[in-house]
Amino acid sequence: MAKASSSKKVARVARAGTGKRRVRERKNLAFPMAIFVILVLGSLVVVVARSARLDAASASEAPAANKDHWHAAYGVYVCDRFLPPLADSMKASATGIHTHADGLIHVEPTSPVGAGANARLKLFADPAGLKFGSDSFTAPDGTAYTNGYDCNGKPAKVYVYRWANAQDPSATAEVFDRDLGNVRFKDNGSAYTIAVVPEGTEVPRPDSVPQLAEALGGGAAGESPTAGLPPNLSVPAGAESAPASLVDPASPVNPAAPVNPASPVDPASPVDPASPVNPAAPSQPSTPAVPDPAAPAPNAGVVPGQP
Ligand SMILES: [Zn+2]
Repeated sequence: MAKASSSKKVARVARAGTGKRRVRERKNLAFPMAIFVILVLGSLVVVVARSARLDAASASEAPAANKDHWHAAYGVYVCDRFLPPLADSMKASATGIHTHADGLIHVEPTSPVGAGANARLKLFADPAGLKFGSDSFTAPDGTAYTNGYDCNGKPAKVYVYRWANAQDPSATAEVFDRDLGNVRFKDNGSAYTIAVVPEGTEVPRPDSVPQLAEALGGGAAGESPTAGLPPNLSVPAGAESAPASLVDPASPVNPAAPVNPASPVDPASPVDPASPVNPAAPSQPSTPAVPDPAAPAPNAGVVPGQP
């Protein structure tokens, strides 16, 4: 009898014990689950906030998606001559930035991916078959143009020259020698020469500058080649172009350049390239002045890679 009742007691105690343990286990799980839910909700808030900021930034900064239709002249200049214009990339372009084999870049973003600070040279070049490396590029025919390319016995370097206003005969080019695909489109009517030249070569404006004048003269759509400007408004190739002067690879990146964490285009490019400062250009009326607290290095004739 005593034996039976004590074994019942043991069983009761055991049941009670497991019951308590289950409750304690449930309580122990409640805390980590709460943390997990908080973490998931927090991440969602961050993701939503980031995309909202991206939309806001792209909407506020030109070129705006589904609104702006800019034109720019470009040319690929190897040693001493321009290559033929790149092929039509209208269908290949996913961002709306394209060319019609006309020597012009049509900056017509169709989504935030190609708008505002995301509108960069590589979005034009990729669909047209020209692939940029940081300081090199490969042409559609497979020819690789890298630093050291042989220009009639002289080693060449690869640059991108950007003129904010192709029509301004007194404008000086901004010169980039790295991160070339990330040079930004910041102005309607700008010009870009992708150059492979020995140092000191005078790099001309693209041959298509007169066509650019016609596109700009054609109004917002800009596709009419009939609306021309007087010939005296076209700029002769090579006028006022900046010399390819000394490059200082040690020049620090402009510390004032704000970080652009929202760029979905190139997450590997952490710095948002603010307008690079060209020490040779006293003022650029068409570009908002960006103060550069960093005094230019003595021989910094070339913008250090951040378009
Ligand atoms: Zn166009």
